[in-house]
Amino acid sequence: MTSDTRDDADTATCTEAPLADQHFSGDSLWERDPATGRPRPPRRPFKARGSFVERCEGCRLPTLNCLCPYRVSAHSQARFWLLTHPLEHNKPTNTGRLIGDILDTTEVFTWYRTAPDATLLAHLEDARFAPFIIFPDDQPDYADRVVGIEAVDEVSNAGRIPVFIILDGTWRQARRMFRKSPYLDCLPVLPLHSERLTRYHLRKPASAAHLCTAEVAAELLRQSGNTQASAILDDYFDAFNDSYAASRRHHKLDAPTPAMRRLREQGSE
Ligand SMILES: [Zn+2]
Repeated sequence: MTSDTRDDADTATCTEAPLADQHFSGDSLWERDPATGRPRPPRRPFKARGSFVERCEGCRLPTLNCLCPYRVSAHSQARFWLLTHPLEHNKPTNTGRLIGDILDTTEVFTWYRTAPDATLLAHLEDARFAPFIIFPDDQPDYADRVVGIEAVDEVSNAGRIPVFIILDGTWRQARRMFRKSPYLDCLPVLPLHSERLTRYHLRKPASAAHLCTAEVAAELLRQSGNTQASAILDDYFDAFNDSYAASRRHHKLDAPTPAMRRLREQGSE
């Protein structure tokens, strides 16, 4: 579960508009008045939805502040499988994909209510893996499945690979995925208990206690003892946040932030 997460209605609005709005200043997009030959503004407001922003192929961020130089590989014993809501996939502000940039064992599956992903189903049958579904423990009907973070150590001591399954979507989407996916019903539920407050600026969370997907992952890594991977993901998330926010203001960062500098040092080691 991620709590990026305002309502579906909120996240459905296009967060790209402010970035794109100012991109129609070029003469070529303006019609010319046939009488005077002078440019005149379009009759209808120009509807840009980020389509005019030049994006990097690698990181999908605006090229103005590309994230690629800060991409570093980390290692962690625990893995992530993201079960991503179809509406979340193409959002540039989605932070779930940052996890896979850092940890190459990460797998992303699209959630469809009626058609579970075949690879995911096969993984769930594979005894090498010990998957946990990350979800709050606030409902009584699955209380018997709830485990604590120490369960992660227990499975790895038993020689299995701990896997965190994160439901990547808005709060409502995550709840729906949790409730409507019978193949997840047998898995232990691991709630993330954390005092951490979100540092995510690109979407406005309902509460500062609602962490976005990358932050949930960083916190799970930290609590399960994968401290180095946690620190790298945290820095990469900060770099993403700052790069994206600057590009929205049409500002090119003139110097790398401290998180960016740490990532660069990691990368050159
Ligand atoms: Zn890039």
